[in-house]
Amino acid sequence: MRVLVVEDDLPLSQQIKRDLHKEGFAVDLVDNGVDAEYMGAEEPYDAIILDLGLPQRPGLEVLSHWREQENKVPVIILTARDAWHEKVDGFKAGADDYLAKPFHIEELVARLNVLIRRSQTQDIGSLRVSGLKLDEAHQAVVDNSGTHFELTGTEFRLLRYMMTHPGVVLSKSRLTEHVYDYNSDRDSNVIEVYIKRLRNKLGNEIIKTKRGQGYIFGKPSP
Ligand code: CA
Repeated sequence: MRVLVVEDDLPLSQQIKRDLHKEGFAVDLVDNGVDAEYMGAEEPYDAIILDLGLPQRPGLEVLSHWREQENKVPVIILTARDAWHEKVDGFKAGADDYLAKPFHIEELVARLNVLIRRSQTQDIGSLRVSGLKLDEAHQAVVDNSGTHFELTGTEFRLLRYMMTHPGVVLSKSRLTEHVYDYNSDRDSNVIEVYIKRLRNKLGNEIIKTKRGQGYIFGKPSP
């Protein structure tokens, strides 16, 4: 999962980036409203964390513009403590959730996971697909027999994205866009390597290759 963090308080945004990265997210940072609007419109984020008080263009305006352009990416706004009107204005502008500063990173991660799951799978329980259950807390996956498979950061990000889109043909470039942040060396051939590693761990049949098109995780949806 790839998220955009829009925050002009640099120490805070760096901290959020580090913490979210540890939780298995690919993270891009921007520190002003103009870049935020551009990145949010151009890059396929799975969620956006948006501060409202931003230089160059206010967060509310950025959010309204995305929604006017039918951009439905889940957005969590960061509001000032006790500023109830910011929350109301945020929801009116199209926010999906809010978090008042200062917040605990655990709460941000929990809200982010719920929001992404709700938007992508309509299921807010644990992610379970084709006999596998994703263990987000430990960045691992468990099969029906209870066997635990540890995953590296990239394997986890890749598998989580595939498990939220079961039965769908996922091209290498789409997977690359959702697994890596903007500044990573995004060579889509590397995806092949990670697919191979996941197959070695979980069995060949769990990810099918659709020649010339991409990969399909799990069984096709009925
Ligand atoms: Ca700010």
